[in-house]
Amino acid sequence: MSLSNLIKETLDILDLNLIFTENCLTHEKIGEDICKVYSGSLTYFPEKCLHCQQENNQTIIKYGWKKVMVLINDVSEYKTYDRIKKQKFLCKSCNRSFLAESTLTERHCTIARRVKLSIAEKLKENTSMTGIARAKHVSTTTIYRVLKDFYTPLS
Ligand SMILES: [Zn+2]
Repeated sequence: MSLSNLIKETLDILDLNLIFTENCLTHEKIGEDICKVYSGSLTYFPEKCLHCQQENNQTIIKYGWKKVMVLINDVSEYKTYDRIKKQKFLCKSCNRSFLAESTLTERHCTIARRVKLSIAEKLKENTSMTGIARAKHVSTTTIYRVLKDFYTPLS
């Protein structure tokens, strides 16, 4: 198993386009906490433009990178992040740019789906929302949002 796959297996990341390399793990002080940070990069060949939906007939070019921090579930009781260098693309059809997307999070979200799943599980237990928020390093607003997303019946 490659190092990248070993890390992804450990962090429960399924995204094939996300790559980790040697020395990707650092310990950093973020806010009040010493955190584990796994730095990786995300790139691929987009099939179509996210904006105009135009198929990529060599009309979408790679256009730099943007770093984002994604909160993931704790590793060995450390608050843990993925720092993802996301590929930026430029569509020559509509002249707009967009970022590579990952299965790790929803679009524009910096909290991993796995964290939300974990919160949804904890909401089944008799635990207070502020307790869950503290344990998962998120705001109570996020807890309410997860509650709404996971437990509101579709009408
Ligand atoms: Zn476009």
